[in-house]
Amino acid sequence: MPSEFELIRRFFTRPVQHTELGVGDDAALIRVAAGMELAVSADMLVEGRHFSSSDSPGALGYKTLAVNLSDLAAMGATPRWATLALALPAADEKWLQGFAGGFFGLAQKHKVDLIGGDTTRGPLTLCVQIMGEVPAGRALRRSGAQPGDDIWVSGVLGDAALALAFRQGRVELDRREAAACLPKLYLPTPRVELGCALLGIATSAIDISDGLLADLGHILEASRAAAEIRFDDLPKSDVLRAHLGDAAVRDCLLAGGDDYELCFTAPAERRAALAELSARLDLPLTRIGAIRGGAGLVLRDGAGQAMTTEATGYDHFA
Ligand code: ADP
Ligand code: MG
Repeated sequence: MPSEFELIRRFFTRPVQHTELGVGDDAALIRVAAGMELAVSADMLVEGRHFSSSDSPGALGYKTLAVNLSDLAAMGATPRWATLALALPAADEKWLQGFAGGFFGLAQKHKVDLIGGDTTRGPLTLCVQIMGEVPAGRALRRSGAQPGDDIWVSGVLGDAALALAFRQGRVELDRREAAACLPKLYLPTPRVELGCALLGIATSAIDISDGLLADLGHILEASRAAAEIRFDDLPKSDVLRAHLGDAAVRDCLLAGGDDYELCFTAPAERRAALAELSARLDLPLTRIGAIRGGAGLVLRDGAGQAMTTEATGYDHFA
């Protein structure tokens, strides 16, 4: 069995690209470029709550970093550094090899240096802290939405929740449909390029980790504003659309977590810029409604009638 230090050296020490001092000392040293602010966020994945022990270690390594990258994307920050705190039930080398492979594969894609962490024995828990740079004073906050702004989302919504509902036997999908949805749950794409490109365009942004209604709700609360959403305009995959008659599937669309798409607001004058951006990134950007004065969120059907929904987002303590 490798010692703690051998394990850190073998699995979690890689050359750094833009760091003064990385893994191996009591603290890492980083330098933020002039005129930039440091954006910092942490996200923890706990076995039994966020994933199951049978999940592939490579996918877990990927996802533990991906969810953190998504938080920086929602701020418009460029990811640069990460730390990794791990509690492991045992030093399972095969598992660590897979986990590190998934983690560093995504880290390299985004030029993120792993600069430190902590490794301890305990119930499997994966905690990443991510740090990135954003031009001082320009980060995308939740609080900037203005009445009249359009509300946009990237990609399609609900597929990750649909995959989870399928895994848990709550929704039936055929093999082809399941194969289309499952990667959205296990290997979500953090919208890093989009987030950075939204600086100077979007007035507010959030990543959708707990479901559209809950996460847009956070923007409304922080911006002290209301919203109208057109249900028919919500971007859906063909698989989700085929099952839309099922109320559980409509809940996936409105309140399904784990999509890691961005929801953002922008003035109507920016529609052309956003159409261009969508084409450049080859990523659908869809206008789903508008910000209004006041408070609350109204969902309208195709005929413009207000719809009621039981769906709310995920809350760990509710
Ligand atoms: P200390 O006891 O001083 O906190 P540790 O023995 O915990 O130091 O860690 C030794 C070095 O390895 C430190 O630089 C720490 O940041 C790094 N490290 C520990 N665990 C990890 C990990 N899982 N991934 C990356 N670096 C790690
Ligand atoms: Mg330590």
